[in-house]
Amino acid sequence: MEYAIVNGQRSAPLPRGRGCCQGCGGSVIAKCGELVRWHWAHVPHRACDPWSEPETQWHRDWKGRFPAEWREVAACDRETRETHIADVRVPDGPVIEFQHSGIRESERRSREQFYQHMYWVIDARACVHNLKLCEPLPAPGSDLIDDLYVAHCDRHYQELMELPKRAFTFYRSRHIKLGKYFAAIETTWWEDGELCDSTQQILEQTRPHWQGHRLMLWRRPRRQWLGSTCPVFLDIGSSLLLILPWSEPKDRGYYCVQEWTHDDFVYLAAVGEPPPEQTWVWPATP
Ligand SMILES: [Zn+2]
Repeated sequence: MEYAIVNGQRSAPLPRGRGCCQGCGGSVIAKCGELVRWHWAHVPHRACDPWSEPETQWHRDWKGRFPAEWREVAACDRETRETHIADVRVPDGPVIEFQHSGIRESERRSREQFYQHMYWVIDARACVHNLKLCEPLPAPGSDLIDDLYVAHCDRHYQELMELPKRAFTFYRSRHIKLGKYFAAIETTWWEDGELCDSTQQILEQTRPHWQGHRLMLWRRPRRQWLGSTCPVFLDIGSSLLLILPWSEPKDRGYYCVQEWTHDDFVYLAAVGEPPPEQTWVWPATP
């Protein structure tokens, strides 16, 4: 851990330092080696907060984007005396937990109940091969979405139309006449010669009002995050975070995510609302 209590004050590690853990009150000593990053460790070694996980460079980089006073802040439930140390706690604002390893759904729920107002940032770099970002989508509140239906083309249709493997079709529900994707596509296509609201037309309508929403294929999704009551941001190792979905589309495995820059996320967490100048960069190759 980065902070302990020394003489009643929160303190960073210092050579030969001794102090108390903010979480359990146990004794800690400062480890100030040349090779290892300076930190505090329990003596004797013990697992203090069951929610803590070994800190990685990834944690440190994220926590480092917030002021020192906001990092590793103990929170205590007045009634149960249960205490946990939040990765980041914004004064009068949310807790931010940076989660590298997988956790059970029950633990996710416990943490959300304990902190109430919190954001998750999930290290999804290891499962990035299971994610594929696809076409931009209209913002959930937009009129464009009311009647929009997104489907992954089945193989037969792809071959028929010589479409790329990951082709999608966006169409209006009024075009669904037989209730099945293929039937709908086929019917519309052959009736009109072309789709009235083709993917391209819908993308053109979406673009002027686009707010970073995209279709994402997620193979083997980490389901424990999908039922979260708090915003979940996936860190996929790029310059953008993906906020997990506002809905699961009707076709399995596809989610609507929203792209956020790291800076915009930090602003949101610190200020409590998105930056006034938030902008989204329309993907070069959707
Ligand atoms: Zn402790």
